Amino acid sequence: MTYPTTLRVLAYPAPVLRRKAEPVTVFDADLAAFVERMYQCMYDAKGVGLAAPQVGVSIRCFITDHTQREAKDLHDRRVFINPRIEDAEGEETYEEGCLSFPGIYAKVTRPNRFTLVWQDLTGAEQRQQFDIEAGDFLGVVTQHEFDHLEGKVFVDHLSPAQLTLLRRKLRELETDWKAEHGNAGAVLRR
Ligand code: ZN
Repeated sequence: MTYPTTLRVLAYPAPVLRRKAEPVTVFDADLAAFVERMYQCMYDAKGVGLAAPQVGVSIRCFITDHTQREAKDLHDRRVFINPRIEDAEGEETYEEGCLSFPGIYAKVTRPNRFTLVWQDLTGAEQRQQFDIEAGDFLGVVTQHEFDHLEGKVFVDHLSPAQLTLLRRKLRELETDWKAEHGNAGAVLRR
């Protein structure tokens, strides 16, 4: 697979954000180099997580570095390929943002405990249990990024009342997209 050399985070309503991403089948140096470029892109944008579809590559891969927002020199870089979520239970609510929704933040309720199973850059299977209530902020980030691989975005979890509050900001993003691309993009139904 050929990966783009220059990465840019695509904002809502980019249609690729609505596509179900394809499994990764080749674990090679090109994939590793692409992931490295994703890291640079995420750090430039000051994000804690980035999914490949957000840079226009519709494959099942996302990265995180959830520590960098507390301490600049302390990193915890993780790469999740072909992830799946198992045994999800409970509920926890966190305020979330998304690099594809600049300036938009909202409280999202997600399962509190779950097991994540994924492949690393060598293709080896990994698994980890998360308990958000016990302090696993990475559990919030991984669920958010997992959604991107399913063509879902965090605002899909919001109530109509929450969406009403964000209407003006969503419209601004829709206007920006239309000005640059000449089409409406994949606009949220609301
Ligand atoms: Zn996001």
